[in-house]
Amino acid sequence: MKKSLLLLFLSLSLNVYSLPKIINKGNSNEKSIALTFDDGPNSSSMLSLLDLLKEYNIKATFFVIGQEVEPHKKALKRAFDEGHEIANHSYTHPNFAKLDEKTLEFELEGTNNAVFKVIGKKPKIYRAPYGVFTRSLKTASTLNLTPVMWNLDTLDWSSKTTSQSVIQHIKENVKKNDIILMHTLAKSYKSYEVLKILIPYLIKEGYTFKTVSQITNKDAYYSNHETEKPLKNLLEPSLELNHKINQNEKHLQETINIDFTPYDSIGSFSQLEGDIII
Ligand SMILES: [Zn+2]
Repeated sequence: MKKSLLLLFLSLSLNVYSLPKIINKGNSNEKSIALTFDDGPNSSSMLSLLDLLKEYNIKATFFVIGQEVEPHKKALKRAFDEGHEIANHSYTHPNFAKLDEKTLEFELEGTNNAVFKVIGKKPKIYRAPYGVFTRSLKTASTLNLTPVMWNLDTLDWSSKTTSQSVIQHIKENVKKNDIILMHTLAKSYKSYEVLKILIPYLIKEGYTFKTVSQITNKDAYYSNHETEKPLKNLLEPSLELNHKINQNEKHLQETINIDFTPYDSIGSFSQLEGDIII
């Protein structure tokens, strides 16, 4: 009896420890930072951002939404061809805390398949929408994906911040090994305005720019050998699933409409969701 209890304890412990750790900062010895852009690709703000990054020869990481890949594949291909890293940011941008395992698998693997069709590589790094990693870690472990958060949130998407306040916030808080969260939003050019000022400043301060895989020392993509596995023919979400996803979005909309003061609770709605950030 005791032995079986011990075995049970051990297997539970092993299960816990086999879950991947959420990475939220780099481990480079250099004075480096990683710029990350969520919610693309798009064929508007992302293109001017790519122009700006090219001007300074900076490589960034784009966490892309699977369903946006096909409509904006040219922008995605351009980013990849210009040396930027492409990472997974789910297929429909739902709240992972509300999804079952099958749907989570679709969200992660469906995006990887969409990206693979355009760039011939499958991302190994993913970021949960809103930083809510809850419940996706087991799926991530099965798919051998690395969960990557951020540790400097610019709130560039919020109507409560201005380019000036975002610049100020980054200047005051940036430090070595930061993974900085920004967005490529079709309607907002704030990231571009911010970076036009900020990049020369950061260079002057001695920072170099790395991609997420470089700054965390992780693989950006599956190796060719791993990718050789036949792509799973994942079905598009069923009507029932679409309904669930819409419900999630509604819930999330309610969550993110909560009044907040920018930068008071840096980082994240995941705290509202009770997620554990490591
Ligand atoms: Zn997002």
